Amino acid sequence: MAGVLDPQLKRALAERIRFYNELGIYDFYRRRPAESTLNEMQDALMQTEEREEMTPRTNAAAQYVRQEGSSELGQPELKVIDPVQALRLIREDLGDCTRCVLHKQGRKQIVFGVGNPKADLMFIGEAPGADEDLQGEPFVGRAGQLLNNMIKAMGLRREDVYIANIIKCRPPGNRTPEREECETCSPFLMRQIAAIKPKAIVALGAVAAKTLLAINAPMSEFRGRWFDFRGTKLAVTYHPAFLLRDPRQKKETWKDLRMVMKELGLAIPAKGVE
Ligand code: URA
Repeated sequence: MAGVLDPQLKRALAERIRFYNELGIYDFYRRRPAESTLNEMQDALMQTEEREEMTPRTNAAAQYVRQEGSSELGQPELKVIDPVQALRLIREDLGDCTRCVLHKQGRKQIVFGVGNPKADLMFIGEAPGADEDLQGEPFVGRAGQLLNNMIKAMGLRREDVYIANIIKCRPPGNRTPEREECETCSPFLMRQIAAIKPKAIVALGAVAAKTLLAINAPMSEFRGRWFDFRGTKLAVTYHPAFLLRDPRQKKETWKDLRMVMKELGLAIPAKGVE
């Protein structure tokens, strides 16, 4: 019967819409409205390996581009060239941030980012976990140990690269960051990237990739290729926390890292990530 949705389909649709909303997508278009049937919709909902362009309402990177150059108000670092000073100004601007709900949901401290302010390579994860929240530094727990190994396998030291997250405060129970939290926080990350000007960025995991690129795609479509992130090369690989759960994927990660090393002109050793 036209217009009546099966309750299961209705639930699946509501869930899917919520998922997209969390990624910042609000506008939906039917590709073939005349032909679309309930079955087709059901099929589409069951597909997990799909790629959709996002139409974010307020994309953090786009927002930053609009601000960049048009106004230095609120971005004092645009007046300085030295990345050390620029990062200091961004940190000062962030202050004891209360811009989103996470400040009152048990975060101990802000995890700004760490590493070489003049790094050629930046790693971007999702959000601080318990260890990071305690120590005030990204990737210091078990996932951090593995990231250190990845960096070492590339012939680099942790202090050679810059490491940050999409959001700077620990979400309660390590839940996935909410759209609003990413939108509120990521402009500061955009400013850090602009200050550091790395030659390449590695997004760790799907949340970082989806947020930075504003593309909703499975990891299989993110990996093994370069994206343009506002003039900077961006590659995607598995999140170290995922590799802890599925170590067999380290081999795949090593392929991604080799692609990055080639781009940066780094010598490629035979040994991979351990
Ligand atoms: N996972 C992340 O995404 N970031 C961290 O800093 C730690 C774990």
